[in-house]
Amino acid sequence: MAGKVEKVFKFVVVGGGIAGVTCVEQLSSQIPSAEVALITAGPHIKAVTNYKQVSKTLEEFDVEERPSSVLEEKFPNLIVIHSAVKSLHTESHSVETADGRVFGYEKLCICSGGRPKLLTQENPHVLGIRDTDSAQEFQKRLSKAKRIVVVGNGGIALELVYEVEGCEVIWAVKDKAIGNTFFDAGAAQFLIPSLEVDKPEKTAPCKRPRYTTEEPAAGASQIFTADRNSRGHGCGPTEPGSALGPDWHEGIDLQGAEQVSRRVSVEYQCEVEKIVTSEELHNPQQQTLRLENGSWPVYIQLTNGKTFGCDFVVSATGVVPNTEPFLHGNNFAQADDGGLQVNDQMMTSEPDVYAAGDVCTACWEHSPMWQQMRLWTQARQMGWYAGRCMVSHILSEPVELDFCFELFSHITKFFNYKVVLLGKFNGQGLGSNHELLVRCTKGHEYVKVVLSGGRMVGAVLIGETDLEETFENLILNQMDLTQYGEELLNPDIDIEDYFD
Ligand code: FAD
Repeated sequence: MAGKVEKVFKFVVVGGGIAGVTCVEQLSSQIPSAEVALITAGPHIKAVTNYKQVSKTLEEFDVEERPSSVLEEKFPNLIVIHSAVKSLHTESHSVETADGRVFGYEKLCICSGGRPKLLTQENPHVLGIRDTDSAQEFQKRLSKAKRIVVVGNGGIALELVYEVEGCEVIWAVKDKAIGNTFFDAGAAQFLIPSLEVDKPEKTAPCKRPRYTTEEPAAGASQIFTADRNSRGHGCGPTEPGSALGPDWHEGIDLQGAEQVSRRVSVEYQCEVEKIVTSEELHNPQQQTLRLENGSWPVYIQLTNGKTFGCDFVVSATGVVPNTEPFLHGNNFAQADDGGLQVNDQMMTSEPDVYAAGDVCTACWEHSPMWQQMRLWTQARQMGWYAGRCMVSHILSEPVELDFCFELFSHITKFFNYKVVLLGKFNGQGLGSNHELLVRCTKGHEYVKVVLSGGRMVGAVLIGETDLEETFENLILNQMDLTQYGEELLNPDIDIEDYFD
């Protein structure tokens, strides 16, 4: 049972990441007279800057960590409370913070993000990367490391493996190819040459890693190397908090103990069998491990039978939604991935409780061209839309699912190439019911189109293709493209004029 309610707010939002901050901005600007509270565990908030709508659904922006006073100055009706929410009492519409204060709400939005899904809990040799703090811990340990093992095949693993220098990296992926969350083997083939050359100096941010294209068998490994001079930047410490986003490694020197070359070996189609310390290794029961020379603080055995000694292991196997403080005593419907289920109004199964960003799972019937991915852009869109829904419900106005959920779109950079992902860019959920058209000019561009029933349902565009708007339109209008066949990607045809 919670203590005495200190104050009742019209709106309470939990979490100072992109979803929470965008939500309070929406609430505070829509109803300037409403009292709004943002309760967040860390001292800083995340702010979206330089927002640019690139096309109907594609958006680009930067993210900055800022003191929360910036928000309070902008919105006089907003109060930021720096404490973690310890418990939620949906019946009495109140939340209790770690410092023992209790706040009431009319409507609540949970935007508490996620935390790394660690391979094993409480093993000092296993690190997860989620926020500025954990990135700095990683940097510190890397500076003394000669070899690390990275486990995982999503965006974080990809960036890490590409960025780390001066330290051998063993990269264990469970799939047949690296980066399969974002790419297919064709895109990998396009990007491979970038692996073998030095990264460009940091005039422009260089994000994301390397791929391989052949489908290596289980147990196969592949080694990429490139020499690279070290570079150095500083980065001040902060409290733990929001997930890092694009460019998280900018300003952090990811340099290992050795000044020499970059060396990455990929172990395909394998998972972690066990992780043991050198002390445990000398225990006769661990004699089954096949060992190499030398002594390492920790050893990792993979399901392909190989064992590697290393300085530490990075667990980059995704995130778990941060739901714990909110569950006890309440009746939230949770999705299989642990997220709080939300409907097309961003409402959870508890009355007057909404959720947005990494903590929630979108459980409405999705548009055929959209899927949830726990990305920066979706955190912003969900926070913004949740705020709109909360306001509309207070005003008893109807609200329709926002257009941004019609088409999945993501814009990023890999190997310094612009990358645009649209719709079912990897044929997600289509089974064999799709065909692919590919155009590739080495070192210049890679264009892949996913067609289903003669209509475009997804695309991957790497390089300055200038096709995003036309393809976005073709996906949204579902025009029958059967008659165009491969002409669709004929570089001699100006496709924009074609479909005017
Ligand atoms: P978060 O940003 O995690 O914010 C959660 C907030 O809730 C924090 O302020 C936290 O302090 C607070 N909080 C948590 N629990 C409580 C509590 N009990 N009480 C009060 N406050 C609480 N996405 C991309 O699109 N592109 C990328 O290149 C990219 N790279 C990434 C790299 C890394 C290393 C990581 C970790 C993520 C990356 N992402 C990327 C994903 C992206 O950062 C997340 O999808 C996004 O930040 C989620 O935003 P959020 O607001 O839902 O949660």
